[in-house]
Amino acid sequence: MAERGVCRVRDLLYFFPRAYEDYRRVYGLAEIGALPSGTSVVVRGTVVRVHRFFRRLLDVHLADGGVTLRARWFRPNVGMAKTYARGTEVALAGSLRRGKGGEAELVHPRNVTALLTESAGAGIRPRYSLVPKVPGRTIEKLATAALDAVGCKLPEILPESLRARLGLPGIAEALSFVHRPPPSVTETDLAALAAGTSPAQRRLALEELLVLQVGLARERARVRGQPALVCGVDSGQSLGRVRAALPFVPTPAQNRAMAAVLDAMAGGAPMQCLLQGDVGSGKTAVAFAAAVHVARARGQTLLMAPTTVLAEQHQRTLGPWAERAGLRLGLLHAGLLPAERRRVLAAAEAGAVDLLVGTHALLEDRLRLACLGLCVVDEQHRFGVRQRARLRRLGEDENSWQSAAPEGIVPHLLVLSATPIPRTLALSLYGDLDIVTLDALPPGRKPVDTRICRGAEERQAAYGALKEVVTKGGQGFVICPAIVDGDGGRQGASAVALGRGLRASLAPARVAVLHGQLAVEKQRQVANAFRDGAVDVLVATTVVEVGVDVPSAQIMIIEDADRFGLAQLHQLRGRVGRGQEQATCYLLTSSFAPDALSRLAVVAATSDGFRIAEEDLRCRGAGDLQGTRQAGAPELRFADLSAYLGLLELARAEARAVLDADPELALPEHAALARAVRERLCRARPIAEEAG
Ligand code: ADP
Ligand code: MG
Repeated sequence: MAERGVCRVRDLLYFFPRAYEDYRRVYGLAEIGALPSGTSVVVRGTVVRVHRFFRRLLDVHLADGGVTLRARWFRPNVGMAKTYARGTEVALAGSLRRGKGGEAELVHPRNVTALLTESAGAGIRPRYSLVPKVPGRTIEKLATAALDAVGCKLPEILPESLRARLGLPGIAEALSFVHRPPPSVTETDLAALAAGTSPAQRRLALEELLVLQVGLARERARVRGQPALVCGVDSGQSLGRVRAALPFVPTPAQNRAMAAVLDAMAGGAPMQCLLQGDVGSGKTAVAFAAAVHVARARGQTLLMAPTTVLAEQHQRTLGPWAERAGLRLGLLHAGLLPAERRRVLAAAEAGAVDLLVGTHALLEDRLRLACLGLCVVDEQHRFGVRQRARLRRLGEDENSWQSAAPEGIVPHLLVLSATPIPRTLALSLYGDLDIVTLDALPPGRKPVDTRICRGAEERQAAYGALKEVVTKGGQGFVICPAIVDGDGGRQGASAVALGRGLRASLAPARVAVLHGQLAVEKQRQVANAFRDGAVDVLVATTVVEVGVDVPSAQIMIIEDADRFGLAQLHQLRGRVGRGQEQATCYLLTSSFAPDALSRLAVVAATSDGFRIAEEDLRCRGAGDLQGTRQAGAPELRFADLSAYLGLLELARAEARAVLDADPELALPEHAALARAVRERLCRARPIAEEAG
């Protein structure tokens, strides 16, 4: 239970059921003939026939009032058949299906015979998410016990005035309704409960969001109160220098973003800026502009990349730009020789480096900087929450970086993300973080032609296309969900297995395998070989999601595409189509599930990362949205955040109202809220720090 965050009695109360079963009505077998397929029913009857097909199948026929019904289990547990001896009275609960001939049947129903005879049996039963090794029935009992013991004594976190104004139920009432819906509840109310939209659930969700919003706002105020490097130099001059150094003309979107970022660093308060822009939208140039501006104000910039491969790529790209702009560039990663590493560290400490590019080696080393003015975090979703938290904890403990900057200034923070999240959500999750968006791609980009391939034949066609490309001297990627077979995923679809297979079938093409378990040095070699054209086909895991920039690659095959998030697929696809040729991406799937296919269809239909992110959000809820959870977004108990976007807005407004009236949360009416906020920030320290 602790793994699920349930450590205290209060946590039990906030461990909500994920579904409900209605046992208030037991259907007679004669009645169910008229019910539509998919209806949840409880039926009772006498076992009249049992069929067992080894371990594969168990069929039990029930009869009642001259009507019979078949219940069927695939791969039944050993001993299950014993429960269904002929002549026994049983009650089964499940969802109704129509067989081929239109006759009703139950597939994998639950045996609820004992339940119905218990005193608490009848009525509506909550079902909790499965917790490994904890029987569902135990959780139910625990929740009930918790409710009886302290349900009425919990403090009201929502201020009374707010509750009255919005007409929200009290905490005791809400919790009781969610865990133990009264038998008198109507069908409509039960449906709302199942959908998570009942007043009780909305109240609980609002409470959670309000605590979060108040917490974020207070953290933000705290960070704002700290001093940062004042970039008082003329930003027009900085931008002029940037334009002269770049090998291309910035797009209007880039110009806007650069101006906004420079502007945010002008005051004495630390900038907290999220720069979001689709893959290939040119975020690097914006970060470079910020570094130039900071350097002119005599500050240093750290640019953190999630992988060595990407850090080196940044060094190659930024090297010439920096030189033209008069910036001294340094590179630091775990693969450096000790002497080189010492040299870079010494230069950083002496202030002889203006822009230090690196991986989390930056975090691990006892890095001392002469005057750190700005941290840029590239592809932030690829960093762990802990790493990002450390980024912010500059100079606070001996493990973090030391900056000799005057008066302990904190650095400005610029976070780059290619996994855009819808603006409302971003604002609500990150508090008042400044969000700057690159909303257009550089000119001349052709969208990647994306095709969905189902089944063996289409899969073969995709590999046929790959062969054709490499035969003509082109390059391609094959992306796999797993490194070796047995890591989940289809047998033979792992990077190692496919690499082996393709080496044979594509010979004499040169095939290389790249994944995160290879030594860093090896990863670099492989990536470099691919970039230099010494490898034709790169079979890789999602390590290539960032940083392998090979303009000539024009084809990508993604195995088991349904196993990836939509935003991730989009990100992966961004690796091709950077050159002149029309690029193609094949999304292979062996799933025929309609929703899996319709999700893939979204990626195939649009090249707009924002659209895809929104779709991801709609399909899966924010909890799963890549770049949200990983961005350190708090795990909200209400999984389906998309249903609560409106509530988020409300929570934001109410949080502001509360803090305007009582910035320190000192009023008695805010005591419980203040405590909840403190606790929440403790639990979610990294989040709070990041949200600033
Ligand atoms: P991302 O936003 O994905 O980090 P990059 O900054 O890596 O994008 O830019 C992607 C590619 O587009 C790079 O090769 C870069 O040189 C190029 N690029 C960026 N801005 C422009 C521009 N304004 N005009 C032409 N090419 C550009
Ligand atoms: Mg980038």
